[in-house]
Amino acid sequence: MTDIIEIPAHLLPQDGRFGSGPSKVSDAQIAALVASQPGVLGTSHRQPPVKNLVGDIRAMLTELYALPEGYEVLLGNGGSTLFWDAAAFSLVRERAQHCAFGEFGSKFAKATDSAPHLAASSILTAPAGEIVLPRAEDGIDTYAWPHNETSTGAIAPVERPADIGDALTVVDATSAAGGVRVDIAQADVYYFAPQKSFASDGGLWFAIVSPAAIARIEEIAASGRWIPESLSLAVALTNSRANQTLNTPAIATLVMMRAQLEWMIASGGLGFAADRSARSSGVVYDWAERTPWTETFVTNPAHRSPVVATIDLHQSVDSAELRRHLRANGVVDIDPYRKLGRNQIRVGVYPAVDPRDVESLVQCMDYLVEKLLT
Ligand SMILES: *Cc1c(COP(=O)(O)O)cnc(C)c1O
Repeated sequence: MTDIIEIPAHLLPQDGRFGSGPSKVSDAQIAALVASQPGVLGTSHRQPPVKNLVGDIRAMLTELYALPEGYEVLLGNGGSTLFWDAAAFSLVRERAQHCAFGEFGSKFAKATDSAPHLAASSILTAPAGEIVLPRAEDGIDTYAWPHNETSTGAIAPVERPADIGDALTVVDATSAAGGVRVDIAQADVYYFAPQKSFASDGGLWFAIVSPAAIARIEEIAASGRWIPESLSLAVALTNSRANQTLNTPAIATLVMMRAQLEWMIASGGLGFAADRSARSSGVVYDWAERTPWTETFVTNPAHRSPVVATIDLHQSVDSAELRRHLRANGVVDIDPYRKLGRNQIRVGVYPAVDPRDVESLVQCMDYLVEKLLT
């Protein structure tokens, strides 16, 4: 289109992908994919090459998170959304408490709340951009909250609430895992998907589970509750221990995930990855601070996500218009979460994103807005 403002080449990022998921896939991951042909791609997931690939990923996640004795890494098909239903069948004994302060936390709350075999859930809410923390409550056997609420860019602590007895803590780390430090012993279940901080594709779920979570999975499986096989975490446990999945996984996704884990571990581990994302999000937050037409959406600095930065724009700057020009210049996916309905940008800065590219992104926005406002 002719009305597109062309951004000078020297201002443009090397890579213009800033999505919150799917997110930037690195060249090294694609090189790993190419290197796996011929080889693991297009071969049976029941044979050693793919089993070893799954085994590598489970071992690397164990290393990345320095997992305490008895913790295990499970995986299966269906992404984090499927995991919510699996949790409703295989983790919640009777009644869950959820913290809902955005789209994803609310969706998991709905999954257990509407499950006919469970009591209505206790749902603690906070407005978008804020957080609410789990707290001990009688009759609750599972406490669930998101580590990073990707829809709003708010991050919550991962801390086991006091006085919850043998209740489980189940943390949605879909966008936090791989990009944010955590004391994993505070979570009984820390689950995620590969298309965010691990820069791979969607469609799988991973869950780091504690001995208490494994005991709960086994207890519920033995209880006689009807559980669809694809939603059974007991079935996933058996398969994962054999470096298998119940049904066919996306092998290319696993290859890309392993490549990203190799890069993170070789570069210094979770601390390296978390620092890189924090540096990138710091660029966005500092820019929003000094720019007259922007305001950081999450007002409490302690709750600002280091991996997904949400910035409100002054009404004089139309987010959709700004993003239209950026996209035409190859800078994409900083759309706000659609249901939030704000004049906002949301920048995904997972570890794969180069902080220098984030510097370029804010320069590009300054350039465009100066042109758009004159
Ligand atoms: C993206 C996301 C999900 C959904 O993940 P899918 O793999 O697409 O099901 C759930 N929770 C959070 C926090 C997310 O960021």
